[in-house]
Amino acid sequence: MQFYTAETINRFEALIAYIPFHSCYEWLGPKNANGYGTFTIRDAGGQHLAHRVAYRIHNGAIPNELGVLHSCNNRACVRIEHLMADTQARNMYDASVQGRMYKLTKEQISEILKLYVPYKYGQMKLAKQFAVCENTIMAVLHRAGVRSWRQR
Ligand SMILES: [Zn+2]
Repeated sequence: MQFYTAETINRFEALIAYIPFHSCYEWLGPKNANGYGTFTIRDAGGQHLAHRVAYRIHNGAIPNELGVLHSCNNRACVRIEHLMADTQARNMYDASVQGRMYKLTKEQISEILKLYVPYKYGQMKLAKQFAVCENTIMAVLHRAGVRSWRQR
């Protein structure tokens, strides 16, 4: 079942750059203030986030309008292999959280949650401070229900 018309899909695909030796598919269309690609579909509500459109082109409707996340952390990327709906992402994180969080004590985890301020005291700073990788901080925030990285 096609979610969009062939015309819309063609128009969408014309705005994707496939760069040799570059794993992401870069969005050439407009971007919003947060760096996410945007794509206008006049007869389907106007402006959409390009990565969400890419997801729908391949998978149909997004279940319960969940967040669609970039595994590559490149917000302008529209490659379907780099996108996942939130439930899928949650499962992956849950599987890896156990392995990552053991590096931190309970006290450190509550400290991280206290310190975290989106875009001010973010994952990168926290990762440095606690000498862990950013994914560990993300796992901590995720586990605590802080959805810093979710596109609403
Ligand atoms: Zn990507």
